[in-house]
Amino acid sequence: MLQDRNQRIEAVLAGAKAAGRLAIDLLLPPRCLACGVLVTEASSICPDCWSSLDFITKPYCASCGYPFEYEVGEAAVCAGCEASPPRFDRARAAMRYNEASKPLLLRLKHADKAELAPVLVRFMARAGQELLGSADVIAPVPLHRWRLLRRRYNQSALLAKSLAAEAGRPFLPELLVRRRNTPPQGQLGREGRKRNVAGAFAVAPTHAEAVVGRRVLLVDDVMTSGATANACAVVLKRAGAEEVMLLTVARVVLA
Ligand SMILES: [Zn+2]
Ligand SMILES: [Zn+2]
Repeated sequence: MLQDRNQRIEAVLAGAKAAGRLAIDLLLPPRCLACGVLVTEASSICPDCWSSLDFITKPYCASCGYPFEYEVGEAAVCAGCEASPPRFDRARAAMRYNEASKPLLLRLKHADKAELAPVLVRFMARAGQELLGSADVIAPVPLHRWRLLRRRYNQSALLAKSLAAEAGRPFLPELLVRRRNTPPQGQLGREGRKRNVAGAFAVAPTHAEAVVGRRVLLVDDVMTSGATANACAVVLKRAGAEEVMLLTVARVVLA
């Protein structure tokens, strides 16, 4: 009885919230998803931001997706992958991490993402078309539980869920779990990042079967050094995954 009533109250509150939102949407003019200037169309990016976004297209490294200046053949890999081959098979990103894409990623983390996520998913679906086509399962790179609580949700899971729905592939939100709480990567160099994430992930025991012989597509917001993707790939391969791929909104491209 009491539960019934609570459910009814919740439904009423949710309805009121949705109605309120609609009213706000009607009152407030649409703003650029990246910089916040007024734009004519809802859920769009202003021309200035748009022209500064640096979408990554072919040619790029067959392995990590690093963009090349010139066509060098479909199977060519970059100097970094040549020197130290990544543990994942393929990584692709929709755009370079730069001054224009940074605010998009920040807003995805901290602000209202209901409007932003579908736009980013569209960019990702285009950049990751081949990966989405060959993936058997799609999963996010996990956040540790306390970070999940503080941030209240995992933006990578949100992106992965939409991509999985779009590609018609199973979405496994808890395929990978963090074994320990790694400090934020921001201040660390390449070696530090590697040490920081090694052993940080595990395949959830309940999903051990789901990866054997499968092609796993991991989704994250940004690829920095590739250390996180490598650490995830190591445990997935050890668990029997046939291929491990990574699709991100953006990636850092060092000159
Ligand atoms: Zn803008
Ligand atoms: Zn590469």
